Amino acid sequence: MTRFPPLDGLLAGRLEAALRKPAAQQPVWPDPRRARDAVAALSRAEPIVAPDETARLARQLAAVARGEAFLLQGGDCAETFADSTEAHQRANLRTLAHMAAVLVHRAGLPVVKIARMAGQYAKPRSQAVDAGGLPVYRGDMVNSVESTPAARAPDPDRMLRAHAGAAGTMGLVREFRRGGPAGSEIYVSHEALLLDYERSQLWVDTSGPEPRLSSGLGHFLWIGERTRQLDGAHLAFAELLSNPIGIKIGPATTPEQAVEYVRRLDPHGEPGRVTLVSRMGHARVRDVLPPIVEKVTASGCQVIWQCDPMHGNTYMSANGYKTRHLRQIVDEMTGFFEVHRRLGTHPGGIHVEVTGDDVTECLGGAPAVAEKDLPVRYETACDPRLNAQQAVGLAFLVAEMVGA
Ligand code: PEP
Ligand code: MN
Repeated sequence: MTRFPPLDGLLAGRLEAALRKPAAQQPVWPDPRRARDAVAALSRAEPIVAPDETARLARQLAAVARGEAFLLQGGDCAETFADSTEAHQRANLRTLAHMAAVLVHRAGLPVVKIARMAGQYAKPRSQAVDAGGLPVYRGDMVNSVESTPAARAPDPDRMLRAHAGAAGTMGLVREFRRGGPAGSEIYVSHEALLLDYERSQLWVDTSGPEPRLSSGLGHFLWIGERTRQLDGAHLAFAELLSNPIGIKIGPATTPEQAVEYVRRLDPHGEPGRVTLVSRMGHARVRDVLPPIVEKVTASGCQVIWQCDPMHGNTYMSANGYKTRHLRQIVDEMTGFFEVHRRLGTHPGGIHVEVTGDDVTECLGGAPAVAEKDLPVRYETACDPRLNAQQAVGLAFLVAEMVGA
């Protein structure tokens, strides 16, 4: 494994300055000294990913940005300690690989595969307290989903458990890759949300146009819809990284903001350095996306345009389940492809919440999941995922759109 030198000097100062900016969605650790100890322990742990793997992904993403490949990213909304079993993880990897195979064979483009895995343990939430008045569940890296005040208290030692879980998961991913078709690589990604975790494994990378920090916690990291503030810590942190970066853009994103994200994250114009992940909702994508694509394209940056057709289409079913309908997911995807075809840009990828387990969390598909089926196997810790059949069905539709 290539090793980079530890963080010091100018970059250490820039990191501290970035982390002093306002950071949304962070837990308040009850005992800050224990949190500092946990970060220190994490920084001594083995990294999850190797920098040469991350560099290879960056080269493959450059090809996606140039229109020569397609990016498939997917997995659980939230990984959990309880569900970090080999059976679950293998099923998710198999589903991702199956979707990729459909895309490769039917669309005729190379597919870059990135799992939402090996670190996807922290969740942004819309409310700070739940319906019962308890602090919200922020992912297994922070607190427990169980509904008691003690379980919901943020516990910094959970970051260590998450990291150990991620290391185990990465071992499984490497083994899965070795067992797959020759050269079949699967990279790992998570939302760079919990900054005490994200800051813990950074090395100085001088291989690019300017010295940056290589995160050892995942190959690809993204900034979520709730933490993309231009004056916030998450964006300032991501600017310092050499890993490829995604940024979710919801329906309130302006073309000016999108250009500013790209300018900040990709000052040297490296194709594929930035992935703009649009999650507009099926009813908005055809109106909101075009001016964004036009303005970013005019800025000259070669970003990857990726469609997340999940997060803008979440609603509550009549029987009280947070769900998504495949029809609306397909409609957002269709709108995304229409916009890019019309503007002459490359619809570069998709970002989906999927599992290989036979869950009933999203509606529709064939055989169709109906509202009355939702309680049967509704297992997600956070957002509803496509099951394997729904996921592969979606891949066939997307392959047609890519190939068209
Ligand atoms: C997610 O990807 O699980 C998520 C929370 O997405 P977004 O930031 O787009 O809402
Ligand atoms: Mn989600």
